[in-house]
Amino acid sequence: MAEARTPELSAERRPKSSPSGFPPDHVIQTRVDNPGDEESCDVCKELFDPILEDRHGATSPGRAPDRPQPRQPAGRRPPGPNYVLSSRVRTGRSIRASACPRTAAAAFRSSSSPWKPRRAWTAAWPRYYALKSRTEAEQQQLIDDHFLFYKPLSPLLLASGMARDWPDARGIWRNDNKTFLVWINEEDHPRVISIQIGGNVKEVFTRFCNGLPQIETLFKSKNYKFMWNPHLGYVLTCPSNLGTGLRAGVHIKLPHLGKHEKFPEVLKRLRLQKQGTGGVDTAAVGGIFDVSNADCLGFSEVELVQMVVDGVKLLIQMEQRLEQGQAIDDLVPAQK
Ligand code: ADP
Ligand code: MG
Repeated sequence: MAEARTPELSAERRPKSSPSGFPPDHVIQTRVDNPGDEESCDVCKELFDPILEDRHGATSPGRAPDRPQPRQPAGRRPPGPNYVLSSRVRTGRSIRASACPRTAAAAFRSSSSPWKPRRAWTAAWPRYYALKSRTEAEQQQLIDDHFLFYKPLSPLLLASGMARDWPDARGIWRNDNKTFLVWINEEDHPRVISIQIGGNVKEVFTRFCNGLPQIETLFKSKNYKFMWNPHLGYVLTCPSNLGTGLRAGVHIKLPHLGKHEKFPEVLKRLRLQKQGTGGVDTAAVGGIFDVSNADCLGFSEVELVQMVVDGVKLLIQMEQRLEQGQAIDDLVPAQK
């Protein structure tokens, strides 16, 4: 931000307020202190684009505006089961002209079958349940099982206003076998997640491709539109999630490679990122990492998932070499 906001941009070509009245100084506040809106992305384009270019290596969404849904993947082989513990694909959406989290919760609560919550299930595992109706212990169990988001604590997230009125209007919806989840009003209005044990990314992505349009249709049936523009694609709460907003990742055991000096460079070249298995800002424990695509702008959903599958296969190969005490230099890939 400091580099992109040149004196020239601040003074002479100073971006104007967005049509709904967000002044540029406010847009950069989480960023310094306050939330922006969809129109700010356009109004403050000159300021944001160099930053997005730096973060994602691109500023275009990587697919034509008339093809808004992910295509089904073809012929993807799952990575090795001994290394990959679980796989997940998710994206988010923002409801146009709304900063209000209640919108998304209302869409789910009042929706018709198959998404409507059924009262009969509330005793055990309701399909949709409000965060505030669960005890701390129940919430913790769900967080530990990787189904539920945790309360945002990072000052960066808090400054954006995303924890306002927490836990009001927050909740999750899930299918019967807990492989398809929708988070309501965590960071984005809806977050759509496909997840399962093991390394079958193809199955996870297929479920994601089938489920996402159904969730989108539900919101559209309530006359909600999603923030989207041809320059950036989908506009989500966090600038790291623009474009496709897609994060495809695995929890993977890499006790040798995880300690290797070349690991960060290998990930960078594969356009992958690592974090701990407790989510963003957590460190890896016991050589188990969350590895996922680093950018979500400039590539299609299919390309991003393919990048993760191919990258993970290579990481496993490297781990196996290191298990045998062999070198990995010849496997280090070129920059993607
Ligand atoms: P997001 O990028 O969707 O915000 P976070 O990093 O905040 O995800 O993590 C949210 C939760 O999802 C955490 O409990 C995390 O462990 C879980 N999670 C993320 N990726 C996977 C995965 N591949 N397998 C199992 N759980 C996962
Ligand atoms: Mg998160």
